[in-house]
Amino acid sequence: MEIRNMYKNLGISDEVYNFAIEAEKDLLERFSGIDEVAEYNQLKVIKAMQNNKVSIECFNQSSGYGYDDYGRDTLEKVYADVFKTESALVRPQITCGTHALALALMSNLRPGDELYSPAGKPYDTLEEVIGIRPSKGSLAEYGITYKQTDLLKDGSFDYESIKKAISEKTKLITIQRSKGYQTRPSFTVKQIGELIAFVKNIKPDVIVMVDNCYGEFVDIIEPSEVGADMVVGSLIKNPGGGLAPIGGYICGKEECIENAAYRLTSPGLGKEVGASLGVMRSFYQGLFLAPGVVSSALKGAILAANIYEKLGFAVVPDGKEERADIIQAVTFGTEEGVKAFCRGIQAAAPVDGHVVPEPWDMPGYDNQVIMAAGAFVQGSSIELSADGPIAPPYAVYFQGGLTYPHAKLGIMMSLQKIIESGVAKLG
Ligand SMILES: *Cc1c(COP(=O)(O)O)cnc(C)c1O
Repeated sequence: MEIRNMYKNLGISDEVYNFAIEAEKDLLERFSGIDEVAEYNQLKVIKAMQNNKVSIECFNQSSGYGYDDYGRDTLEKVYADVFKTESALVRPQITCGTHALALALMSNLRPGDELYSPAGKPYDTLEEVIGIRPSKGSLAEYGITYKQTDLLKDGSFDYESIKKAISEKTKLITIQRSKGYQTRPSFTVKQIGELIAFVKNIKPDVIVMVDNCYGEFVDIIEPSEVGADMVVGSLIKNPGGGLAPIGGYICGKEECIENAAYRLTSPGLGKEVGASLGVMRSFYQGLFLAPGVVSSALKGAILAANIYEKLGFAVVPDGKEERADIIQAVTFGTEEGVKAFCRGIQAAAPVDGHVVPEPWDMPGYDNQVIMAAGAFVQGSSIELSADGPIAPPYAVYFQGGLTYPHAKLGIMMSLQKIIESGVAKLG
């Protein structure tokens, strides 16, 4: 068979190929459900672009102050339409997801306020933003306190403790949709909606922010449609569709976005400045492609879950579970497992496929991390990528894939390296 020979040329053995193809066979029905979500979201994006009369002029570039940047202003209307919010801030000047989240928090909190996380520890890089780990310019340095309530053992919300924790001082509540570097389940939009309804019932004027990284377009609704006042994410993840070379977004209530814009640029200037420097076409086209790209990534994640579950490793989510984001965690329990997996993902990459990844001290993280990322955009994790902190429980977090065939090759290659390094055996 032609295809099998192609895999062989790329270094996939018959035994690995057969194992993967067997696992894939059982998934075709689920894949068609994912295609249906992608179809819905594709129509949603097209409608938003049409509603806002996106035209070729939107792709022009501005420089200097960027006053009256029609493309930038229209794109923000498109994002607000897609996420069903009053307003949006979508900028190349927002350098990454952490920056977008820090911006949303710092601009909407004032000294004396309290930030509260009702669903456990936030993403690693937010620890320094909040001041859980001391850092220059953290919220803690500005007199903003932080409180959190951990999830119950079964991964559900501890409603009783949450009720007790919310006080006069609670100004902003942060909820992270995706698991990040944890092995808890990710939250579905429906679960997030239930939590928001609960906290708003206790304190109606509290601002709810959802860290939406890796969650966009996985469902047909977004957290902003179930009560979130702000949804925040990175353009080198889902909504950039693999084309955005940089950027972050915050979509939400007019006032929250205005605060964020005043903080990003300057009080008084807000959204009026910020040249788009020629990235607009990639932002638009990336958003257009995003629903399809997310569906490819989801299929890859589900294939990986099923393959590694069959081999007896702990996987979150499991092979059958509903998906809330594009991340797949696989726990190998050994450093060698984490490294072999990442080497396989790297070896399947179109860029830097010849490079062997090694663990390194990554800024913002407190353990060494190994990353496989042979991406067209540096660090882009909507492209096929994997990363694992070199620390117990030795889990890898696998995500992305601009096309399903690439995700599938990456998973087969990871399996090849896992088998070759003796971390697991087939049959
Ligand atoms: C990736 C991610 C972030 C941070 O985004 P960066 O672009 O890496 O700074 C924050 N929260 C979650 C859940 C993420 O997945």
